[in-house]
Amino acid sequence: MPKTINAIGVHSAQSDMTFMSIQRRDLKPTDVEMEILYCGICHSDLHQVNNDFGASHYPMVPGHEIVGRVTSIGSAVTQFNVGDYAAVGCIVDSCGTCPACERDMQQFCEGGTSLSFNTPDKEMGGFTFGGFSKTYVCKEDYMLHMPENIDLAASAPLLCAGITVYSPLKHWNAGPGKVVGVLGIGGLGHVAIRIAKSMGAKVVVLTSSPAKVEDAKRLGADDAVLTSDTEQMAGYASKIDLVIDTVSANHDVNAYLNLLAIDGTVVLVGLPNEPIEIGAFNVVKGRRSFSGSNIGGIVETQEMLEFCAEHGIVADIEMVQPDQINEAFKRLEKGDVKYRFVVDMKAL
Ligand code: NAP
Ligand code: ZN
Repeated sequence: MPKTINAIGVHSAQSDMTFMSIQRRDLKPTDVEMEILYCGICHSDLHQVNNDFGASHYPMVPGHEIVGRVTSIGSAVTQFNVGDYAAVGCIVDSCGTCPACERDMQQFCEGGTSLSFNTPDKEMGGFTFGGFSKTYVCKEDYMLHMPENIDLAASAPLLCAGITVYSPLKHWNAGPGKVVGVLGIGGLGHVAIRIAKSMGAKVVVLTSSPAKVEDAKRLGADDAVLTSDTEQMAGYASKIDLVIDTVSANHDVNAYLNLLAIDGTVVLVGLPNEPIEIGAFNVVKGRRSFSGSNIGGIVETQEMLEFCAEHGIVADIEMVQPDQINEAFKRLEKGDVKYRFVVDMKAL
């Protein structure tokens, strides 16, 4: 029998989150069940609640930066034991056989990646329900191991924010001798500073917020530029190798293409909902690229967790209780968060 559990979600776009009941499936032989301890609030949760991409299904239980403790395992599970600290990020299933899955890039699965919330639930029907809930159940192959001695609450945001910036930083070889610009210092951006720095790159913060220019050094950056200051921006013209663009709102990327050195790349990970225009001369000059990146596969997510544990990287979090979740979403919408809300799910 499926289990009925407590959750927090929305019944329609733009509405407040409310307490609700949802069902989790019976454990199949390769399934793991965990009690959720912490769940981060990502801007993608907000986009989906607001139906910014026109693909939201209600009722919806968001949450995809999920850390918990294993409470039950299926009869064929070999990689987890009851009591282990475990995590679920964005991906909870994929076809496993397409070229993308064969390369451990389940985020690009040709059969359609099952995400932790708001995608078709192949087992239960309907749509998947995320981590603002009491428990999660998924196949062991899609569950992550939490490294030992890591702060469980402060590392919850690594499950989405962390992997989303780790993957492009690694792919585009952030490291010694490279200059990485981090555009937009929110949940993703502040973790990107730390990961890029630990990879050995010089890190320049590009922010629209004067207060974050002040905070950049504490976060680990080498320098910071207020993007509205044309003189400061001109100082970095043709000097940056890789810009990780995490801005959630519609914005002009041409100003950042012009910061790129020869063969440099702007990688979009933020998800503004309008098409982006690029001036021809901003890319033909300097053989520059504009690209994008989407979370990361399961193997790479585990690798990122180990990397962060080894380098002492966690997020700066503000912990909120389940009954403060609406206030937290409103503050996230206004950009009033330093730098990630994490919900204490034990209190649900
Ligand atoms: P966040 O915490 O809200 O941070 C976004 C940052 O963007 C803000 O802190 C702000 O930085 C900047 N920003 C926001 N509105 C702006 C505006 N109007 N003009 C200029 N800058 C603005 O969000 P997040 O959780 O880091 O997520 C960032 C984006 O990445 C979202 O769109 C999210 O959906 C997306 N995302 C994508 C993936 C993927 O796989 N591709 C995964 C996770 C999230 P400053 O104050 O420094 O300017
Ligand atoms: Zn996310």
